[in-house]
Amino acid sequence: MRPQMRTGELQARTKVPRLRLRVTAAAESVLRSGHPWLFADSIREQNRAGQAGELAVVYDRKDRFLATGLYDPDSPIRVRLLHVGKPQAIDRNWWSERLTRALAARQGLFDEQTTGFRWINGENDGWPGLVLDRYDRTLVLKLYTAAWLPRLEEIAGLIAGSLHPERIVLRLSRNLQELARRQFGKADGEILTGSPLAGPITFLERGLAFEADVVRGQKTGFFLDQRENRRQVEALARGRDVLNAFSFSGGFSLYAARGGARSVTDLDLSAHALAGAKRNIALNATNAAVAGCRHEFVQADAFVWLKQPPGRRFDLVILDPPSLAKRESERAGAIRAYGGLASSGIEHLAPGGVLVACSCSAHVAADEFFEAVRRAAAEAGRAFQELRTTGHAPDHPATFREAKYLKAIYLRV
Ligand code: SAH
Repeated sequence: MRPQMRTGELQARTKVPRLRLRVTAAAESVLRSGHPWLFADSIREQNRAGQAGELAVVYDRKDRFLATGLYDPDSPIRVRLLHVGKPQAIDRNWWSERLTRALAARQGLFDEQTTGFRWINGENDGWPGLVLDRYDRTLVLKLYTAAWLPRLEEIAGLIAGSLHPERIVLRLSRNLQELARRQFGKADGEILTGSPLAGPITFLERGLAFEADVVRGQKTGFFLDQRENRRQVEALARGRDVLNAFSFSGGFSLYAARGGARSVTDLDLSAHALAGAKRNIALNATNAAVAGCRHEFVQADAFVWLKQPPGRRFDLVILDPPSLAKRESERAGAIRAYGGLASSGIEHLAPGGVLVACSCSAHVAADEFFEAVRRAAAEAGRAFQELRTTGHAPDHPATFREAKYLKAIYLRV
């Protein structure tokens, strides 16, 4: 395929028939119920081989139209659904309406004190496998399926026309990078439209300034999904000594400092992450509470560090490890690890201290995670009170089971 050629053009020129699929009865009812994924092993019949990004039409047992979706021959999620119900023309107007809907869902959520948030959260906003984050005047478009690559120009044009950013940066999940380069001439981190980038972007989250490395950083450069938990931490921090384990660039730490924490200790394995945290503190040095808080940094494996007998106790311990279950087979081990981590965290808490334990593993359900942390607290033999549990922030909606990855539980011990 020629890099810029769109699937529609390709079909028109070569007169290939529409890609038509028939699926198992079980998959049919799953799709009808609104689940956005059709797995390869649920496809019973297919009229021909399909290419990345083609529109696939799914028919039901009675040969009636069931759904349309984006085809990806290289993914076990073979079709990501765009639409279920009556046939619709998926054209520029249709995409434009979808975009308007996602943007409208964020209306009123943020004022000018928050210039970093998520505009589009994939499937949950009707854009399967596509994420759009805002960092000040820069947008980051991250793709998790090759199905978007053939229509990248169209989608980027639509977004630019609607949001007028300074630039749009393209990010690709690791498994797409090779194909994107070979077949579409697109590279992870390239500027799709707008001016080049000199260095990291600075943006605001509830009035605090942060840096994001949108070209090389994890996810799209920052963990925007934790904003609401950081706000809770700010409200809990006054006068406390805080341990921020798996601190990354110090998101929780800055909120705790502004909330009046006496000291904040950032604990992370990565020197790069800790250096970012130091720069973020410097960016907020004009805030008296941030300047007045003692900031300490520990570069260590948090699992090992937390297992050591505590040298000093903290009044607030935040645990936000990376995903501990990358696949279903790792689920049981991850639940044990979350429990172990919570036990260690509690060991480091002074009486009356608060534990904030987070999980971002989609394979571990919220209840399983909460139970593991509660069990750890019960086994510690210390009285505890559950303050709250939290889930997804409103700019990170999760509309189906597999999309619900983020959860946190707050315990006073
Ligand atoms: N809480 C952060 C996000 C955490 S991301 C925020 O709000 O922005 C997970 C972090 O854990 C990364 O910074 C990574 O460097 C760190 N990490 C991964 N494994 C680790 C380990 N074994 N010990 C300490 N830190 C680790």
